[in-house]
Parts: sequence; structure tokens; C-alpha cells
Amino acid sequence: MLDIHAHCFMVGKCIEEIRDMIVVESGLNYETNEIVLEESKQENVYFSAGLHPTEVVKLSELEIEKTIKQIKNLCENSKCIGVGEIGLDYYWHKDKKEIDKQKHYFRKLLELAESIKKPVIIHSRDAELDCLEIMESYNIKAVMHSFMPKKDWKIALNKALDLGYYISIPAIIVKNKRLKKIARDTPLEKMFTETDSPFLDPEGNRNNRPYKVKYAIEEIAKIKGLDFEEVESQIDKNFNELLNLN
Ligand SMILES: [Zn+2]
Repeated sequence: MLDIHAHCFMVGKCIEEIRDMIVVESGLNYETNEIVLEESKQENVYFSAGLHPTEVVKLSELEIEKTIKQIKNLCENSKCIGVGEIGLDYYWHKDKKEIDKQKHYFRKLLELAESIKKPVIIHSRDAELDCLEIMESYNIKAVMHSFMPKKDWKIALNKALDLGYYISIPAIIVKNKRLKKIARDTPLEKMFTETDSPFLDPEGNRNNRPYKVKYAIEEIAKIKGLDFEEVESQIDKNFNELLNLN
């Protein structure tokens, strides 16, 4: 099984409990990028080095520049799958100044990913179409993490798929009708599975863990009329494809 997007570092013991699966731990800022690098010393753990849009709003220009340099360096590590999470967040940020700052640094981070030929892992909460509109000018591979647009989901999904991006389906799909439609309309070859642990717990206990990605795989299998193993193995293939290991 693959959980392509988790933040185990937020919860004690989460990372040590990972067995028989691959997890990509996702950094949010300078400090957590260092933590996920450390976690990736564990065999089945990869990481992505990022700067969350909410952090972009909070930090000074100097702190942001320092983090962008760090991300560039971390991307040279063989366990680093790419730049993320990065993106735009209009759920927590509605102020124009804050949004403009997010967009400015989102472009810088996309430029970086393009220049070092690394994939990006995208946070696009309530900002899916704006994210995609910015991203389309870059020659990049992208994973749209926990992709569940509230507005115009079909338009946003088609645009992401037209651009060749991957759609990552979180385990909370078991409780979300919109995600079920998104999974139905996304080819398995363009799909990933994730938990966003410790957030988005499908069991509703605020206690999400990477092993719960099995719920996403089960649900996708049900929707597509396939076996669990067929979905699991295609998603593993997609991961190799993303990392250019095929
Ligand atoms: Zn996340």
C-alpha cells in the first residue's frame, strides 16, 4: 500500500508503527522539512520538502527564501520525491494581500521544481482552479493532494487530468460523496492514495494513521469494480512512474 501524503511527525509513534507499506511524509516548513528528512532514514519512508501556503502567509521574506534554499538542497536526497506540500489555501485565507503573497511564492516554488525536474505535491483547498491556472505555465509533474473541489469539481478535475496531473484520493473518501465521484471519473493510472494523517480520519476519531489508506484502496476497488490487489499494484506502478523508476 502507498500513502503518498502524511504528516506522521505531528503524532508520537506514528512513524515507527508503519509496516509493510510505503509512506511519503510531507514537510510544511523549515523545521518539519528537517524532521521528515530524518524520518526518511526508515526504509519504507520517503518525504517531500515543502512550504505550506499558511506558512507562507505567516513568515517573513527572509524566512521564506531560506526555506526555498533548503527545499532545493533536500531535493537532492534520494528519498525526496519532490516539492510539497505547496499551493494555495483560500479556506483559511481570504484577504487579498495574503492570497497575493501565497501566489507569488507558489510561482517561485513551481519554478524551482521545474528547474530541478522534481514533481510537486499540491495543497489547493478552495483554490483548485487558481492553482491549476498558475501551474499550467510550468513543465512539471504534479500530485493534487486530497483533491476535492467544492465548486465546479468536474471542471477542475478535467483540467487537472488534461494537464497530466495525478489525483490523490484520501481515505476519507468512505464518507465523502464528492470524492467518490472524483474517484469514479479519474483513471486508475492517474490516481494516488493518501491519508493526510493525522487529519481527515475516515473513522472520525481525529486519529488518522497511514495504515488507514486501506480504506481508500477498498473504496476505489469497489467503485471501479476491481480487486483490492489490482488497485494497490497500479498505484505502486504510478509511484514508480512519478519517480521515473519505470
Ligand atoms: Zn497535508
